[in-house]
This record gives sequence, C-alpha cells and structure tokens, in this order.
Amino acid sequence: MLQTELSPLIDKFGRTVNYLRLSVTDRCDFRCVYCMSEDMTFLPRQQLLTLEEMLFLSQAFVELGVNKIRLTGGEPLVRKNVQSLISNLGKLDGLDELLLTTNGSQLEHMSSQLADAGVSRINISIDSLCPERFTAITRTGKLEKVLKGIEAAQAAGIKRIKLNSVIVRGKNDDEIVPLVNFALEKGLDISFIEEMPMGDIGSRDRQHTMVTSEEIRAVINTAYSILPSTETSAGPSRYYRLTGGHSGGSNIRIGFISPNSHNFCDTCNRVRVTSEGRLLLCLGNENSVDLKAVIRRYPGDMDILKTTIVEAMAHKPERHYFYDDDKPQVVRMMNMTGG
Ligand code: SAM
Ligand code: SF4
Repeated sequence: MLQTELSPLIDKFGRTVNYLRLSVTDRCDFRCVYCMSEDMTFLPRQQLLTLEEMLFLSQAFVELGVNKIRLTGGEPLVRKNVQSLISNLGKLDGLDELLLTTNGSQLEHMSSQLADAGVSRINISIDSLCPERFTAITRTGKLEKVLKGIEAAQAAGIKRIKLNSVIVRGKNDDEIVPLVNFALEKGLDISFIEEMPMGDIGSRDRQHTMVTSEEIRAVINTAYSILPSTETSAGPSRYYRLTGGHSGGSNIRIGFISPNSHNFCDTCNRVRVTSEGRLLLCLGNENSVDLKAVIRRYPGDMDILKTTIVEAMAHKPERHYFYDDDKPQVVRMMNMTGG
C-alpha cells in the first residue's frame, strides 16, 4: 500500500500521541527488587530489534508526529553500541527532545557523548543514599558509581536532570527526606514513583509495601512546606515546589507519579515499544502490536510500518487497570515494558 500522507497519531478517545518510550534492551546490570526477580532470564539477542530497526521505527514515529523519544529499558546504556543509535536519533528531523532514563551506572564515562548527541534530559534512578542499602535494593549496584554518574551528567551540561525514587515500605521509607535533601543539595528535581505491580517478583505482596504519593507528601511536609505547582511536564508527574525556609539555595520541583492512587490516563500522550518490538498502547494493559514482525516481513517499507502504527491507535485503552479483583493483572516485568 502506498501511503504518502497519514494523519497524526490520535486514539479513539481523542488523545494525541506525540511521545514514544523505547526500550532498547530488557537487560540490566542491576536487579532492583521492585523491577526484577533475582534470577531473571533475558531475551535471546536475536529476538531483540537491532539498533538499525530501532532507528527505522523511531523515524516512522517521528514522521507521524512524535516529537519526543525517551530511551529506557532495562538499562539502556548497557546495550552494546547504543551510542550509535543515540547519535543517529539526535539527528532525526522533527525530533525535538531526546531523553533517557537510566540507573546512572554508566554515566561517569558516557555523559559527554550523550550531551554531544543531543540528549537534553536524563532521569536517574536512586532509591537510597546508604551504600549497603543501595546494594541491597538493586541487588548488584554500587551507590558510589551512581553518585559519580550524577556528577558527570551535571558536568557534561545535560540541561535537565531529574532523580527518580521508588519508596518501598520497610526498605527505604525512612529515606524520603534525605533524598529530598540530596536533590536540593544538587539542585535537581526529584520524582517519587508509586510501586506498580508489574510482573511476578517473588513473595512480597506489593499492595502492602507500596507507599502512596500522599504518604510521601505527608513525610516531606514534616521537614518542608510544599505547595502544588501549576507546572506540568506533560507527563504523569504532579509537581510541587518547596516554599521558603530551606537551606539548599535552589528551588527544586518534587514530582509524584501515582499510577495506583491517581489515575492520569485522560491526558496520556505516549506509547511504548519494547526491546523486541512490541508496541504497547498502555503501561497497565497487555494489548500490543508486533512491529518487529512488520519490519522483518517488509524490510525498509516505511509506509506499511506507519500504517500499522496508525491503525494500532484504535487499540489504545481508555485507562490502565493494574489490579483485577485485587490481583495484579499485568504479567510483564517493568524491564520488559520500558519503564
Ligand atoms: N534502568 C533504568 C532505571 O532504572 O532508571 C531505566 C528502566 S527502569 C524500568 C525505569 C524506571 O522504572 C525506574 O525509575 C525504576 O525505578 C522504575 N520502576 C521499575 N520497576 C517499577 C515498579 N514495579 N513500579 C514503579 N516503578 C518501577
Ligand atoms: Fe535495572 Fe532499572 Fe529495573 Fe533497576 S529499575 S533492575 S536499574 S531496569
């Protein structure tokens, strides 16, 4: 089918999709307790999209009106030769923002290349400031390396760096204020993400260890006054600002991502592509379209790929459902999803 002009990506609820989150790998050098099980099996490499296929696919999305792409994973920076994908994406006409979510472990040696390639915003995950606990939560990570990575990203001139923290009851719920203090000291925004019930991570019952945004705000309020901000990042984060009386010198934003306690689906502007090329229309639903099959069946055919993506929009659900009768219903792990 020859298709010269396709309309932008609009779903049946009138939402325009202009944001793609692309998982470049399901692998990771960490095994965070809320994201993976300890003995993860990763996808065989031939099942992953190649970096060239990822670029082709990204180009299709950009031609359909996507102007923002976030690379995620797994840990995006552990994929071999990912720098070549990043620098090619940085050159795509029509892409306004190239973003990255990372655990920070590779930033010490990769930050300058990322800045040179045009990565404008980086989210760095950090859940604890105690070295032993950091290693316990990530099962393999070293806090020192991530702290050096944060410094390197700042030194490389990446304009917007945000910290992301998942608070798990009994593991790091006493570090909420220290994490805010750290963000203030570094002059960085921080978002707290409610733990989502993605995949089977073992015996822990996540409904009991999940700490809601409301609880986290209450804890922050014991140390700081915070007020809702009207600013938005066109994402699920609801932002607050500290008001007066703090010693950090900068006025950072504190974001709350509350997939469990606050439904943000009515303004959803995003889709995800997994590292094996499944187009996920929603984080909290299993329906997907196999774009890898299209790319491999019709190599180089941009029109067919774009048509498939446009048609997939009809399957974007109205909202996410993480629980069904109190049972988690999404079987994908977060690293498979591209968090
Ligand atoms: N490896 C990178 C990192 O850790 O930032 C990128 C991928 S990770 C899946 C993206 C984000 O998802 C991280 O901030 C992580 O804390 C968060 N995450 C992972 N599993 C989660 C879960 N079950 N619930 C909520 N957030 C989760
Ligand atoms: Fe790896 Fe990120 Fe998942 Fe942690 S949250 S295991 S760093 S993908």
